[in-house]
Amino acid sequence: MDLVFFGIQGSGKGTQAKQLAAELGYYIFEAGGELRKIKASGSELGETIKSYIDNGELVPFEIIMQVVKEAIAAVPADQKILFDGIPRDADQMNAFDQILSESGREFTCVHILLDKEEALERIKGRAEIEGRADDADQEKVLRRMELFLEKTMPVIKKYEGEGKVIEIDGKGSVDEIYERIKDAVISA
Ligand code: ADP
Repeated sequence: MDLVFFGIQGSGKGTQAKQLAAELGYYIFEAGGELRKIKASGSELGETIKSYIDNGELVPFEIIMQVVKEAIAAVPADQKILFDGIPRDADQMNAFDQILSESGREFTCVHILLDKEEALERIKGRAEIEGRADDADQEKVLRRMELFLEKTMPVIKKYEGEGKVIEIDGKGSVDEIYERIKDAVISA
């Protein structure tokens, strides 16, 4: 069973996803990370991607879906995947569901809950450590959070309606949250 991680910017989603994937043997697909790699390549596609990432906007549908499709095709069918950062809106959700079912893959979602104010505080610290330009610019961070609340929350709600979502309290230390996620995933 694959996993799909959700959480507002600053919820600790990426950190938790990496740790869990490493410990439980998931191949990790990190949408933002994959896109940043292409951005850094300096290709024409990279330049296009850069214009969206740097503004905190979603990269166009065709681009991100192509990236995820190729990644899934490159992974052996029996290799579990942890998806971090996709799907982010209704169109991506429809396409994602279709790609996964065509590949014979099933998934459970993990949603790390944290309120916006607390999440913002955490991002201020992260920007200094990781040096990400889109984290250092408060306006861009707020835009990404707005997109999460407006576009991604309805996706999570829909998956909740399908009984696919495990909710995790995102307050506390990294280790505390990790234990909650691991326990929930193992017993799911
Ligand atoms: P965060 O979740 O903190 O915004 P990410 O690393 O997941 O950080 O994403 C960084 C940027 O990459 C996003 O602001 C967006 O521009 C782009 N991105 C990531 N995932 C997607 C996606 N599924 N669809 C479109 N763009 C995406």
